[in-house]
Amino acid sequence: MKARAFDYRRVASVAEALDAYAGCPGEARYLAGGQSLLPALNLRLDAPDLLIDIGRIDALRGIAVEGGALRIGALTRHAETLASDLIATHAPMLTEAAAYMAHPAIRNLGTMGGSLALADPASELPACMRALGAYIEITGPAGIRSVAADAFFRDLFETAIAPGEILSAVRVPLGRPNTRMRFDEIARRRGDYAMVGLAAHLVLAGDAVETARLAFCSVGPTPVRAPAAEAALAGRPLEPESIAAAKAALAGDLDPDDDDTLSAAARKHLAGVLLGRVLSGLGDGRLTAEAA
Ligand SMILES: Cc1cc2nc3c(=O)[nH]c(=O)nc-3n(C[C@H](O)[C@H](O)[C@H](O)COP(=O)(O)OP(=O)(O)OC[C@H]3O[C@@H](n4cnc5c(N)ncnc54)[C@H](O)[C@@H]3O)c2cc1C
Repeated sequence: MKARAFDYRRVASVAEALDAYAGCPGEARYLAGGQSLLPALNLRLDAPDLLIDIGRIDALRGIAVEGGALRIGALTRHAETLASDLIATHAPMLTEAAAYMAHPAIRNLGTMGGSLALADPASELPACMRALGAYIEITGPAGIRSVAADAFFRDLFETAIAPGEILSAVRVPLGRPNTRMRFDEIARRRGDYAMVGLAAHLVLAGDAVETARLAFCSVGPTPVRAPAAEAALAGRPLEPESIAAAKAALAGDLDPDDDDTLSAAARKHLAGVLLGRVLSGLGDGRLTAEAA
């Protein structure tokens, strides 16, 4: 199948992109890496009148530490996330997550902003943003606003981005000492979307967990936090008893649907197995981030 005919315009700045969108009499879409949008057009799941190519806007690029946060530009490709020393130092969960995303050809083009704007509930990066307590920077005709990741993902493929606005960057707060984080997932084959994925972010005070942020992908219409499991960990050492308590509490946090590929019961079971695996790894001190 081929896409319906559309107009194409490449823009050089965010202002030009916003103008192009506002001036389109029909439906317009921003084009970043094209790794989700172009297949959707070819399958005729979407049929916009105009594609606005934002892929060469320099202001949407770059990875830097500024103002107590790691700022990652929207056009950061998944391959750049995987290779970035700054990301590996301050948010290594994103490095781990990027390694699970699709295959090298897709990672060479797909972008951070595209993945978050699309908000596929099976995607790794949205769950990471919730676990990291990140902020999503959105630019529109009225200026720039910042939305906490917990408020950004609203429903299935639905975010806080209003029509015409551009996701310009994400800001990940720099970790305190004794921050430990990890992303892991269970998929049928490497590169497939996860049957269940988990982004875990813990801050320890001495031996005890001070705060825990756990966000799952592929268990609901958005990335899903697990407040009961988080509470079961808080104030206790990370040890087999507290991990078992978190796994037991998790049953009340998740309410996935049955689908053609997996029953809800199997998905919940896998989520518990994954939670135990990730927390045990963090307790042993493996794959942790001692963020500066
Ligand atoms: C075979 C295959 C396997 C894949 N496997 C995975 C996987 O395992 N995990 C995973 O997470 N993803 C996977 N993907 C998706 C991939 O990660 C995409 O790159 C990503 O979802 C979209 O990024 P993009 O830059 O290609 O966005 P596009 O395809 O260009 O755009 C996607 C949507 O976001 C909008 N958009 C893009 N950028 C912005 C912006 N800055 N501001 C506002 N709106 C914007 C577009 O208008 C469009 O609606 C896979 C894709 C394919 C084809």
